[in-house]
Amino acid sequence: MITTSNILTQPIEYLKGVGPQRADLLKKELGLFTYGDLLHHFPYRHIDKTKVLKISALTGGVEFAQVQGVLSYKEVIGEKAGKRLVAYLRDDTGVIELIWFKGSTWIEKMLKEGYVYTVFGRIGFFMGNPQIVHPEIELKSSEDNGIKNLLEPVYSTTEKLKARGLGGKQIGKLVQSLLALITPRDLPENLPESVLTKGRLVSRYEAYCQIHFPKSQIESNQAIRRLKFEELFVAQIRLALTKSERHRHSKGVIFNKVGDLFNSFYKDHLPFELTGAQKRVIKEVRVDCASGHQMNRLLQGDVGSGKTVVALLAMLLAIDNGFQACMMAPTEILAQQHLQSIQNLLKDMPVGVRLLTGSTKAAERKRILKDLVEGEVHILIGTHAIIEEVVQFQNLGLAIVDEQHRFGVAQRARLWKKAAIPPHVLVMTATPIPRTLAMTAFGDLDYSVMDELPPGRQPIKTVHRYDDHRAKVMDFIKDEIKTGRQAYIIFPLIEESDKLDYESLMQGYENVKAFFPEPRYWISMVHGRQTPDVKENNMQRFVTGDTHIMVSTTVIEVGVNVPNATVMVIESAEKFGLSQLHQLRGRVGRGAEKSYCVLMTSVKLSNDARERIKIMTSTNSGFEIAEKDLALRGPGDIEGTRQSGALPLRLADLVKDKGILEAAKNYAETIVESDPDLDSAENLRLKYYLMSLKGKTPWSRIS
Ligand code: ADP
Ligand code: MG
Repeated sequence: MITTSNILTQPIEYLKGVGPQRADLLKKELGLFTYGDLLHHFPYRHIDKTKVLKISALTGGVEFAQVQGVLSYKEVIGEKAGKRLVAYLRDDTGVIELIWFKGSTWIEKMLKEGYVYTVFGRIGFFMGNPQIVHPEIELKSSEDNGIKNLLEPVYSTTEKLKARGLGGKQIGKLVQSLLALITPRDLPENLPESVLTKGRLVSRYEAYCQIHFPKSQIESNQAIRRLKFEELFVAQIRLALTKSERHRHSKGVIFNKVGDLFNSFYKDHLPFELTGAQKRVIKEVRVDCASGHQMNRLLQGDVGSGKTVVALLAMLLAIDNGFQACMMAPTEILAQQHLQSIQNLLKDMPVGVRLLTGSTKAAERKRILKDLVEGEVHILIGTHAIIEEVVQFQNLGLAIVDEQHRFGVAQRARLWKKAAIPPHVLVMTATPIPRTLAMTAFGDLDYSVMDELPPGRQPIKTVHRYDDHRAKVMDFIKDEIKTGRQAYIIFPLIEESDKLDYESLMQGYENVKAFFPEPRYWISMVHGRQTPDVKENNMQRFVTGDTHIMVSTTVIEVGVNVPNATVMVIESAEKFGLSQLHQLRGRVGRGAEKSYCVLMTSVKLSNDARERIKIMTSTNSGFEIAEKDLALRGPGDIEGTRQSGALPLRLADLVKDKGILEAAKNYAETIVESDPDLDSAENLRLKYYLMSLKGKTPWSRIS
């Protein structure tokens, strides 16, 4: 067999009608280097020339239209720049005006009064009468009916390209000559036959032809659906293969028993009944960790869903099986809090828990490092400090990473270099990600969701107030403090170094102090410019209830737990993104008392900001907010998914194409389950296609 080089990799300059200079522009302006790139330069819409409209049917809602009628009258009017040819076309329902500013002389010669023409163009109105400027016009010949029976593709282009004769239409011509060169062999089918049949999908070759030049709207839709499906299916198959690879071939330490610590904690120390979601996740973790393969699990739990106790139970499981565990938090304060909650939960149980952060004193640090190697430390809690080279474990079996989005993949990877067999990894995040996005971005990970809050929580009441209502809001805080509660007041500090933000925080602090004078009221303040000691001290005073109010920047965004706090006031709320607002709000509503979140904004709000505030005041569910966020901003910006190789998608849209995505995922999983190496005759073409895709697996994974 002779292998010819694939036509799709041909440089664009070789295509008829391109040449070196236009090729340069196509590369620079549109990133089109090869035939294949041009083939993938899909039209963004089609102009429907399959219908002829009656002139009376042309209304404001019609953008482009094709009409047919008798040319009743024409004349050239105006002078110089204003010179133009005006003609009138009449059908049995009305008259439309046709106007040419350019080429009026020769067009005037060509047009014949009394003849029937087919006309196409963008419909405009002048004094309520329809008109077309520079229409396409063609004499209706005797043999055909003159109707252009097609959907004409519209391509994006740029001013520079247009100046070089490569407007949207001409690009269409290039695509046309490209398609004339391409045969079904150049675009071989890559989906298994059964998927094509069950999914009622057109062939790959047909799809590429029809997405550019469909004969009908139905053809166009079919082509788009097929290519979207392929895009999502290929991504899902790769994710499913990576996951299956790991399940089959990775090595993991085995936690095969539930031992004394786990059991006695569960029976004697657990202060509450676990929620169904918590139980489910613990079970999933147990199954993973007993499988002999490394666990790589992402746990998404809305703020306040109780992830800490799940983490602790998983760690006890590790210890019961003779391993050490560690838990990494993104900030010092959080690590400190984890230490405290875990010590409180464990009480007098014989578990060695230690804290290692950047500010751990040298002597203490030395002792911890020694105890770690000797196995005296069972649970190490800390910040980035625990992934440093010098920190060595005796036998690390489980690593828990809290609030995943603050850690880079590379940082996490350093964690499991700390044991001969990589430890099990549980990544916990409180930033809900929409299901479709999670399926695409994290499809190769095992994935748990805790979508249930502990019982007895009352929904947080969220309201929007303008700045001029601040005094009332402060009065409300006073009332809450009177009943023994505490409050947060958050100021935006987007950049720790931003001087203006910092000044507004200080100004805000002074204002708050004026409303809440000492010694009746005490205020904590925490921000990024403080030393860890000062921060810590302020935080502690609020946690223990010594202070009534916590004035803070978003330093407290993630994870702090003060159940007695019932009011969260967010200043300049318009400056925050949805997920950040939701995280901040999650700091209250952690106890049994009714809690409130007040979003303060200036009166002037952008539409986007107004929409965000509206979403926040209408729902408490992080998952719902995440869905809306995705719809509002598109997937590119959603936190934690930016580096994911599965995004961005070329055609498919995670909001609109949910149905196709779910179908693609189901097919992909079924195939990989029954034929994990894609060796069956039916799956071979898929396997070859995947092998032909350039580049490594694009997604950098948790392990
Ligand atoms: P997050 O998921 O945001 O990290 P935490 O683990 O900090 O949530 O838990 C939030 C609060 O809920 C804590 O005060 C914790 O003690 C409490 N909590 C956790 N699980 C339960 C439960 N099953 N029943 C009652 N309270 C719970
Ligand atoms: Mg937490």
